[in-house]
Amino acid sequence: MSELHLLSTQQLITGLQDKQFSSAELTDHYIKRINALDGKINSFITHTSETARTQAKAADEMRLQGDKRPLLGVPMAHKDIFCTQGVLTTCGSKMLHNFISPYDATIVTNIDKAGMISLGKLNMDEFAMGSDNESSYYGAVHNPWNLDHVPGGSSGGSAAAVAAGFVPVATGSDTGGSIRQPASFCGLTGIKPTYGRVSRFGMIAYASSLDQAGSMGRSAMDCAFLLQPMTGHDPRDATSIKYDMPDYAQDLNDAAASAGDKPFAGLRIGVAKEYFSKGLDTEVEQAARAALKKYEELGATIVEVTITDPEITLATYYMLAPAEASSNLSRFDGVRFGYRCENPKDLIDLYTRSRSEGFGPEVQRRILSGTYALSAGYFDAYYTKAQKVRRIIIKDFENAFANCDVIASPTAPTAAYKLGEDLDPATMYLGDVYTIGVNLAGLPALSQPVGLTSAGLPIGLQLIGKYWCESQLLCTAHLFQQHTDHHLQHSAIAKETV
Ligand code: GLN
Repeated sequence: MSELHLLSTQQLITGLQDKQFSSAELTDHYIKRINALDGKINSFITHTSETARTQAKAADEMRLQGDKRPLLGVPMAHKDIFCTQGVLTTCGSKMLHNFISPYDATIVTNIDKAGMISLGKLNMDEFAMGSDNESSYYGAVHNPWNLDHVPGGSSGGSAAAVAAGFVPVATGSDTGGSIRQPASFCGLTGIKPTYGRVSRFGMIAYASSLDQAGSMGRSAMDCAFLLQPMTGHDPRDATSIKYDMPDYAQDLNDAAASAGDKPFAGLRIGVAKEYFSKGLDTEVEQAARAALKKYEELGATIVEVTITDPEITLATYYMLAPAEASSNLSRFDGVRFGYRCENPKDLIDLYTRSRSEGFGPEVQRRILSGTYALSAGYFDAYYTKAQKVRRIIIKDFENAFANCDVIASPTAPTAAYKLGEDLDPATMYLGDVYTIGVNLAGLPALSQPVGLTSAGLPIGLQLIGKYWCESQLLCTAHLFQQHTDHHLQHSAIAKETV
């Protein structure tokens, strides 16, 4: 029982079905760990332990009555960007320090309907802007592999909670890498689906044309299980698309069952020199190349492809994302909900002080630069131009995919850096160089663990897929994980028993 938190989601499902343990025991196990160890990590902003315990008992009862939903009674937790009815939803900001959402995000409803038990809301960079979880109003999150290091961001709380063994899986959101980069920093697998695959209704908007929710877990199979209830068309999100409804876990099991000793025979993996460019840490490069070698040994063919210069992609993202953010965040005005300044003199004072006091520096920086890019005199020079470059980036990916099935790259140029390094914003933005193109194109991509640095910090490999090829991406990671054990390594905190 002391190692329940090291079990995979599949093992949890089987254990619950075979009555090796109950959902009440499982939930209790995770809550005890969170209570004993999250003081060191700070991954949770809000705990919903009491509701979770009640739901777990109900899940056990339903299972006894013959309820066969596979995820019934399996614990998880949500990034605090997803609205949860009756539960504090902060988005990592002082601006929403008192915001109790009146409704659930669609994915929250659907995960609930699948019978999963939410243990609470997870820490994140303020309004999902950042790469190290240091911009959260609720304090920095510590990496469970080494407490002096960042967990990545913006889904840093989600990554840290899974890596610490506080939940088997967690939701995240990814506008420019916020699922993949923290997954990479914390030794996890994390998938950002095709834009439109998962509903954005009730996910607090950062940059609406780039935002997409996804799942994080230790393995591709764990991600597959949580992504299942998140997937599907939602009439309340006009950008959610009606498409096929895959059965991810089934696809992964089928792929594994039919795989011979060369499971990747016929798979063409595109490698772009632009993704192994300057600034790439030597150990990260070595681990990524070793993983590619393993793919080759297992039958894959490596082909060279060309994609847009990542520095151009980076500039495009940091023009468009803040522009959209400046518009989205105009709703936080101190009037209807969220933070309101004390004793405003007049309406303008109310707006100005509520926003100046409620938003942190990174959010203010982006609202400022985004507003500038959208202003009448500069709109064409910055915003329109960036939109044109975005079109070229999409075209370049299309051309690359004419010659390959997936594209591989390091997820981030480095492993997790130290907490408190206080990177200047431009340096921090450079860390997003390999992940943001995917969002500008709307493609699906995942990060999977492929080794550790000499200092014992995880390294991730990114796989980018064609539109709607989530199953193929997850299979490509799953079959790799059948032949390697990087995803089975545990962080220092996960190894602690309570
Ligand atoms: N690090 C990137 C940024 O700060 C991506 C964030 C995200 O994906 N939400 O914008």
